[in-house]
Amino acid sequence: MKTKNIKMWYKVFNFWLFGNKLPADMPITKTRSKKYLGMFESDVVLVDDEVEAHYAIEVSKVLNTNSDEYKATLIHEMIHAYQFVLNLPVDHKKFFRKEAKRVRRITGLNVL
Ligand SMILES: [Zn+2]
Repeated sequence: MKTKNIKMWYKVFNFWLFGNKLPADMPITKTRSKKYLGMFESDVVLVDDEVEAHYAIEVSKVLNTNSDEYKATLIHEMIHAYQFVLNLPVDHKKFFRKEAKRVRRITGLNVL
């Protein structure tokens, strides 16, 4: 899937699944990773005494081969971004599983 289409789906899923609560300016890049399907990275840093949140999503173009895989990986990382926005631990525990179930009901995609 082209990067611009991944970014388009991010917008769609942010509206449709997350009530636009995720950052609109999320950087999304494709990687050649053979180890992980996707990655959400986040950091909170002080810049000139101001607190800044830094975040990014990466999606492997090696391991994701069709559009459903890209979408499922993207939503998986978006649940992590949602955890970050809500100040929850970024993990695969109860909240993650509940969200995965919820989005699966809506989209039919398995994002675990
Ligand atoms: Zn994960």
